[in-house]
Amino acid sequence: MLHPIEARLDESGTHVPVQRGSTDDTPWHTNAACRRDEAGLFFAPSKEPTAARLAREEQAKRVCARCPVLMSCREHALLQPEPYGVWGGLTAAERRVVLARRRRREQELREAARATRQIAAAG
Ligand code: SF4
Repeated sequence: MLHPIEARLDESGTHVPVQRGSTDDTPWHTNAACRRDEAGLFFAPSKEPTAARLAREEQAKRVCARCPVLMSCREHALLQPEPYGVWGGLTAAERRVVLARRRRREQELREAARATRQIAAAG
């Protein structure tokens, strides 16, 4: 995981954010706005009430909105894919929606390519 704020599970199963050190930083990592913000914003504590979660996620997204590496972080979180936390201005649920749209789009492109080949083969 390359998030500037790394989550780990404590013994009770709670996600605990951990600030990463500088030894495994990548360039986008180094410039992350969340390195300077409250680590708890980006990962849910266990049994967080919905209203508190929504408020926390909005706060985290405000940090992301001014982050110079937002797109690199988002793409990383989508490619992994990262299952928890706010990454690149998106919650885990929002990333699932983006990934589902990408899969649908890729399927449509494959079907269009197949149809084009069939038309070409039919002469
Ligand atoms: S986009 Fe958000 S989560 Fe990603 S590095 Fe920037 S502040 Fe952190």
